[in-house]
Amino acid sequence: MTLEQLVKPGVLTQPVYEPGRPIADVARAHGLDPEQVIKLASNENPLGPSPRAVAAAARALAEGQLYPDGNTFALRDKLAARLHLDPAQILPANGSSEVLQLLGEVFLRPGDEAVLGRYAFILFRLVAQFHGARLVEVDMPGFAHDLDALRAAVTPKTKLVYLANPNNPTGPHNAAAEVVAFARSLPDHVVLCYDEAYADFLEPGAAADLRPLIAEGRKILCCRTFSKIYGLAGLRVGYGYGPAALVELLHRARQPFNVNAIAQAAAVAALDDHEFLARTLAVNAAGLRQLAAGLDALGLERVPSVGNFVMFRVGDSRAVFEKLLAHGIIVRPLGNYALPEYLRVTVGTAEQNTRFLAALPACLPGRR
Ligand SMILES: *Cc1c(COP(=O)(O)O)cnc(C)c1O
Repeated sequence: MTLEQLVKPGVLTQPVYEPGRPIADVARAHGLDPEQVIKLASNENPLGPSPRAVAAAARALAEGQLYPDGNTFALRDKLAARLHLDPAQILPANGSSEVLQLLGEVFLRPGDEAVLGRYAFILFRLVAQFHGARLVEVDMPGFAHDLDALRAAVTPKTKLVYLANPNNPTGPHNAAAEVVAFARSLPDHVVLCYDEAYADFLEPGAAADLRPLIAEGRKILCCRTFSKIYGLAGLRVGYGYGPAALVELLHRARQPFNVNAIAQAAAVAALDDHEFLARTLAVNAAGLRQLAAGLDALGLERVPSVGNFVMFRVGDSRAVFEKLLAHGIIVRPLGNYALPEYLRVTVGTAEQNTRFLAALPACLPGRR
C-alpha cells in the first residue's frame, strides 16, 4: 500500500501556498548582509510591530508555562467593545488564514461551488480546492471585483462566496454601498466570506459596514487580521466576526488553544496603540504616492491601490523578481495568480521605497 493510495485524493493535487521569501534565505543565497535585505513581499508593516504590542508580548512571555486562555476572553471582550458586537459573534484565530480554513472545514463538501474573483486572494482558492469544492471564477475587469458578475455566478450549488475588499494582490476597492447591496442580494443558502485584511488602510468611513446585516442573522463572516496595519504577522493573530450561530459552528472546528498567549496579549495591546496606527497610515499614504510616481516615471503600468501594496506590470516578472533579489530587494511575482507579467510590491518606508525604485530600472527586461 503506497501513501498515495492512502491519502484523500485532493491532497495529491493540492497546490502549495508560496510565501514571500524570508530575508535570511535571500541573504544566504545571494551572499548579502541580512541587514541590507529589504522585504517588500508580504504586505507587512515597514515600521515593525506596534511597540505597545511588543511590551505586552514580553510580559506574556514571562508566563509562558501557562496555557493560553482557550476562550480568548480579553481579546474578544476588547474587540466586542470596539466593534459594538457581542463576544459570541467573534472568533479569534491563528491569523485570519485560520478563519478561512475553518470556513472550509465547516461548510465545504466535495461538489459544492465556491464563487470568487479570478484574481482574488489565493488562500480562498487553496482552501476551497482542498475541500473538493468547484471553483467558479469570475472576471475582474480592471482588476477590481465585479459584484454583479459575482452575484450572477451564484447557483443552487454555491456554498461560499469570497470577497476581499480591498483585494490582494490587485489593490482596488469596491464602494461600501455596492458591497452592502451585494451582501443583501445573496440567497439564503450562501455564506459570504468578506475579508477585510486591508480595510484599516481605507479613508475613515469608506469601509463597508456589514454589522447591520450580521445583526439580522445573515450568513456573513467578516475576517480581519493583526498581520498588516498592527505589524504582528509573525505572531499569527486575526479574527472573524459574524452571527453568533455561525461563529459557534466555527468554534467547534478550531483547536482548543488556537491563539497563543503571546499573540493574544499583543493583539489586545495593539488595539490601543493609536499613535502607531496613525504613523503607519501616514507612512503608507506617502509611500503609495511615492511608488505611484516612481512607477509612472518608469512608464510601468500599475493598478491603482488603496492597500499597502501596488501591483505593476514588468513583462517577465519572475526574471525581474530574481534580479531584484540580487539587489537585496524581495518583492512578490504573481505567476501563481496567473499574472506572470506582474509584480506586487509592499509599501515600505520612504528609504525602502527609494531603494526599490532606484534598483528597479536595471532589473527590467531588455535593460541591464
Ligand atoms: C494577509 C492577508 C490575510 C491574512 O493574513 P493572516 O496573517 O493569516 O491574518 C488574509 N486575507 C488577505 C486578503 C490578506 O492579504
